[in-house]
Amino acid sequence: MEALRERIQAEGKMLGEDILKVDSFINHQVDVALMEEIGQDIAKHFAGQGITKIFTIESSGIAPAVFASKYMELPLVILKKKSSRTLSQNLWQTEVISYTKDVTYELTLSKDYINDQDHILIIDDFLANGEAATGAVRLIRKAHATVAGLAVLIEKAYQPGRGKLEAQGITVYAQTRIARCGEAGIEFAG
Ligand code: 5GP
Repeated sequence: MEALRERIQAEGKMLGEDILKVDSFINHQVDVALMEEIGQDIAKHFAGQGITKIFTIESSGIAPAVFASKYMELPLVILKKKSSRTLSQNLWQTEVISYTKDVTYELTLSKDYINDQDHILIIDDFLANGEAATGAVRLIRKAHATVAGLAVLIEKAYQPGRGKLEAQGITVYAQTRIARCGEAGIEFAG
């Protein structure tokens, strides 16, 4: 997606070698018009695939997933990173290693929001090692539902996420793919 690529080029900043900071338009300050364009593009890409729900992982995937949900006219479910007292039972849970925080968390989904007829599109901001998306896939499969695919705004193609997801039979749609990044800047893959 050209608009996203241009924005990353203009505002993305590398933190060390591995973390791309995009918090001026995706996950701290949010460019809502860009998120809408992103959501619309995801909706177009996955149209006509019998999808019943969209899942995202709190919190950075929420903004684009809201708009994909709007354009696909489908319910949006936000997977939680920690359970609260309002979410104490009837849960599917799985442990995930956080890429940016280097801790593990229990990815949590209420059994009320999934059933074995669901065909689910997962949306997240980044694909790096594939841990978060694989956690979402595990939850969906525990509930005997199926995965339509994974859409991410930014795939760091030099990391193993895509290979890990594809090995599990998951189709990955990345709106931008970064081949390399470092002191010399950000280089996009085709
Ligand atoms: P994975 O689980 O694929 O290793 O990492 C994906 C998750 O970690 C995403 O949900 C995203 O929030 C976070 N993440 C991974 N790489 C980056 C990055 O370079 N920048 C930011 N801001 N978040 C990242």
